[in-house]
Amino acid sequence: MPTRRAGARRRGPPRFIVDTMLGDLARWLRILGYDTHYSSRLEDWEILRIAEEEGRVIVTMDKGLYSRARRRGLRAVLITTFHTPERLAELSLRVPIRLEADPSRSRCPECNSPLVRVTDKSRLRGRVPPRALEAYDEFYVCPRCGRVYWIGSHWRNIRRVLEEARELREKIRRGEA
Ligand SMILES: [Zn+2]
Repeated sequence: MPTRRAGARRRGPPRFIVDTMLGDLARWLRILGYDTHYSSRLEDWEILRIAEEEGRVIVTMDKGLYSRARRRGLRAVLITTFHTPERLAELSLRVPIRLEADPSRSRCPECNSPLVRVTDKSRLRGRVPPRALEAYDEFYVCPRCGRVYWIGSHWRNIRRVLEEARELREKIRRGEA
């Protein structure tokens, strides 16, 4: 009977578990659409257990946790930089992830649920500032926590950070950074 080694590669897009020091990276991975387990209260042994059971890639700044994960045969990435674009570039060189923003694939940055597009924005009256409702046409709601997101001016910043991350990734590949 075929068996699967703990931590073996799964089919489909990578899933992540992010250590407590990297909350920003967890939010970015969710915006990019990757299933990302994050809690500010996870102990190292819990991170290792969840990664093993759910086939998640551990993303950490902690060398001790990284070494323990590797010794158990789990996939893990050690992050050594401090700014979001650098961290995204560093991670994407180790695990192939798309550094492109596509809100139709995004997950809720707060709770990791896939977002659902709201086609009739009149339903959002009272849940979104009237000016945003007036100005924008693309809205998403989180079915779990109820937060509403829209593609407004902040989305330009998201694209800019991702563009910077892609440029950094190319520089690192070429040995210039
Ligand atoms: Zn949510």
